[in-house]
Amino acid sequence: CGKLNEIDIEDQTVYEEENSNLTVGIRVRPLNAKELNDSKITSVIQVNGQNIIVTCESVQHTFTYDHCFMSQMDTSEPGYTDQEIVFKNMVSPLVQNAFEGYNVCLFAYGQTGSGKSYSMMGQESAQVNIISIDEAVGIIPRFCQEIFTRISTNMNTKTTVEISYFEIYNEKIHDLLTNVMNGVKRAPLKVREHPVFGPYIVDLSQHCVQNYKDLQTWLKVGNSQRATAATGMNEKSSRSHSIFSIILTQTQINNQLNSESMDASRRSKINLVDLAGSERLSQTCASGDRLKEGVSINKSLLTLGKVIASLAENTSNRKRGFVPYRESVLTWLLKLLLTVNAIISFAKF
Ligand code: ADP
Ligand code: MG
Repeated sequence: CGKLNEIDIEDQTVYEEENSNLTVGIRVRPLNAKELNDSKITSVIQVNGQNIIVTCESVQHTFTYDHCFMSQMDTSEPGYTDQEIVFKNMVSPLVQNAFEGYNVCLFAYGQTGSGKSYSMMGQESAQVNIISIDEAVGIIPRFCQEIFTRISTNMNTKTTVEISYFEIYNEKIHDLLTNVMNGVKRAPLKVREHPVFGPYIVDLSQHCVQNYKDLQTWLKVGNSQRATAATGMNEKSSRSHSIFSIILTQTQINNQLNSESMDASRRSKINLVDLAGSERLSQTCASGDRLKEGVSINKSLLTLGKVIASLAENTSNRKRGFVPYRESVLTWLLKLLLTVNAIISFAKF
């Protein structure tokens, strides 16, 4: 999750000492019915603290991550929910970071069918209301619910929440909240770079939301507009990157004067990214349009990898080497959240 105080962008020295700016968590989803009946699947996966142990043909491979999550469908612990555990351990601290004024970015990475959308959004039928959260609800609704809970308990601060939701499909940006106007699909949106504030999407719609119910309405609109197409691996898979953005603006209320002091305003940006499937093209039997999609997906994921690697090298060598942000729309847009001073983490599936 990228973490950078936008107010301090100019002052590059402020967070230089924070070295552990990349957090990676892995989540293993339960086998589905087809996989359970597949005699070729013989590997066994176990989680032990931060280690994940894969036993394949009697050989053990151990991988270490900041967080490891594995579904335990038969847990007897009351109130146990996988989604809640992922949120509490890996994501809830980011809500705190956002309220402290940091920018936050979370990527869900993994191949199609591995559980990215389930983790980010949850099962479609899952519901959240003010009193309870359905256990199948994912990170994005939980994140928003926690934001509104915090807002309702802090009387000394006026906080506004603005959201936008868009997807990058074949390197083109589509607004998921105003994509269709009078039944006609809008042309893709363009990216421009502001000399001070960095890259932004021209004419991307932003919506002020007052409470969780408002937000739920927008989520429904956006989710129904996500471009989906069948592939050989998972017919419901999404072939686009979807980015749910929240801008949190906090303004201290001066109680004595009963007026808002604009000087005490704090703004943080949160990007929750459900990346497209990371599978290799040869695995998906793709051709034609599907092949074109696969090429652009792979290109942007490759660039994301290159950007992170360049940043890691720059950080460890304390240099300012070239970072290829502009090689893909995704990395260009998230440039400010992927800077040397950012704290980035991935949920890998
Ligand atoms: P992706 O977005 O990575 O392509 P999905 O999130 O659509 O994958 O998940 C594929 C299927 O697996 C869905 O039917 C989803 O409900 C199920 N699934 C994924 N993760 C879990 C989980 N942790 N527990 C239960 N079911 C899951
Ligand atoms: Mg998906």
